[in-house]
Amino acid sequence: MTVKTRFAPSPTGLLHLGNIRTALINWLFARTNNGKFILRIDDTDTERSKDEYVSKIKYDLEWLGIDYDETFNQSSRFEIYKERFEFLKDQERIYPCYETHAELERKRKLQLAAGGKQVYDRSALKLTDQEKRDFESEGRKPHWRFLMNSERIKWNDILKGDIEIDLTSLSDPVLFREDGVPLYTFSSAVDDIDFNVTNVIRGDDHTSNTAVQIELINALDKNNLVFAHHALLKASSGDKLSKRDNVISIESFRETNIEPLAILSLLATIGTSNSIELKESIDQIIKEFKIKTISTSPGRIDIDLLNALNKKLIQNYDF
Ligand code: GLU
Repeated sequence: MTVKTRFAPSPTGLLHLGNIRTALINWLFARTNNGKFILRIDDTDTERSKDEYVSKIKYDLEWLGIDYDETFNQSSRFEIYKERFEFLKDQERIYPCYETHAELERKRKLQLAAGGKQVYDRSALKLTDQEKRDFESEGRKPHWRFLMNSERIKWNDILKGDIEIDLTSLSDPVLFREDGVPLYTFSSAVDDIDFNVTNVIRGDDHTSNTAVQIELINALDKNNLVFAHHALLKASSGDKLSKRDNVISIESFRETNIEPLAILSLLATIGTSNSIELKESIDQIIKEFKIKTISTSPGRIDIDLLNALNKKLIQNYDF
């Protein structure tokens, strides 16, 4: 089976060093395994997604030398998501829910006050057909939740080892909004199946999504995806990186004449067991890549270090 990885940004902002690190790890994993690398644009949220950011994402990748074998936008696949929605409905694995945000919030607060788990109570499963019709005649439209049957999900994570997640501690996820738009959990699982992705490598903020998506993938189609969750890079202050943080966007580095190789050298070694140093070429980065060297504790971005790598690189140039 050909190894296939994917980088799946939402076009809602500029790519920053953390996003590109994920792209780079996926790209290097594909390139070192004779595999394919897909760029998937996660733009099902049509209000927040912007064409301008799609172009910028592609430009950043090209500028850095991260090429892809295939690309597509999720917004071109609404028909397919609809088909899979019907499939899950036939299997009775999704159910309509009519609660408003305010009602859900009230339930959550009551659960919190009672000291219990803040998990959706599945009361929509008990609705009679008449009650559903009554809601609809009031003008309410349902959102749809996935019925998670398993109690526990286990997988062997390439980076984090054996993981076991208690699904009963999570709410049945909403897969479709009231307006019929599929949510990330669903569209991503469908695409990973349809595009024969073999390895999903992403930040560890997705670990509990993975448990849900394994359950979902099993409901849609048995599949042998292998997962790896890397620790997210942090800002030098220890804060989370943000797409709104322009200082660390790839665009801002390009504009301040930071060379692609300085960025790639930093990103290939930060948060790994190797020392951070300037690499001679992208080929050297490919040659040295070993996924297992990626550490599970977060690296911190050090802009001074990036500037120092860049300075060294420029000094090496033969004018
Ligand atoms: N669009 C998702 C994100 O940016 C993709 C996550 C994934 O790799 O599945 O977080």
